[in-house]
Amino acid sequence: MLIIFDVDDTLIDTWNYSMQPQLKRGLNAMVDAGLQVDDVNAAFREVSALNDTTANATETYSQFVGNKGADTTFVQIAMDAYNTPIESIAIPFLDGAKEVVETLSKTHSLALVTHGVEATQQRKIDNVELDRSLFVSIIVSKKYDKKEHYQKIMGETGFAADKIVVIGDKFKSDLLPAKELGMHTVHMKWGRGKVEKNVSPEFSISHLRELLPIIEGLA
Ligand SMILES: [Mg+2]
Repeated sequence: MLIIFDVDDTLIDTWNYSMQPQLKRGLNAMVDAGLQVDDVNAAFREVSALNDTTANATETYSQFVGNKGADTTFVQIAMDAYNTPIESIAIPFLDGAKEVVETLSKTHSLALVTHGVEATQQRKIDNVELDRSLFVSIIVSKKYDKKEHYQKIMGETGFAADKIVVIGDKFKSDLLPAKELGMHTVHMKWGRGKVEKNVSPEFSISHLRELLPIIEGLA
């Protein structure tokens, strides 16, 4: 089988190690630009709590700015700061990720399709010292929707759709395109995957080791 992995919040713990500093930077940028808050620490707790319930950071800041009755232009200021690549933070593997990848690589083909800025995503892979030779393809997608990349990998490797499994934490952008192509889907319930609503993956897991029996069952 061919197993296609997402990276952020599927193999590495982006939610806990990168999201909070990014969110804080966005808040600080709004405060620097004149957004009135009584207490920056309390404001950050508010932003962080909102972020547990929203689909993305834009929605988080929009609700926060709305709650404050402030001008909506602050949202873009926050997002620009949020999206600036962080050079120094190394995001570690999620528990079991390295072992699961190495185990599956012995009997299956593997690929990575990750969304984001090319240099940032490549650096995340380097930082965890993920062995690139274990993957037949590593793609950084500029678009959220990964369908064209899944099709490309399918064409290049020759695997039929029902012999391909895609695993990711974002149902809409990681899994829905795979489902539409007839591939198997595994929802990793981490990061936003924990709070995402209206999802209908074939399988759902909370720990990567749960992937092993699923793959064995499909193979
Ligand atoms: Mg992800």
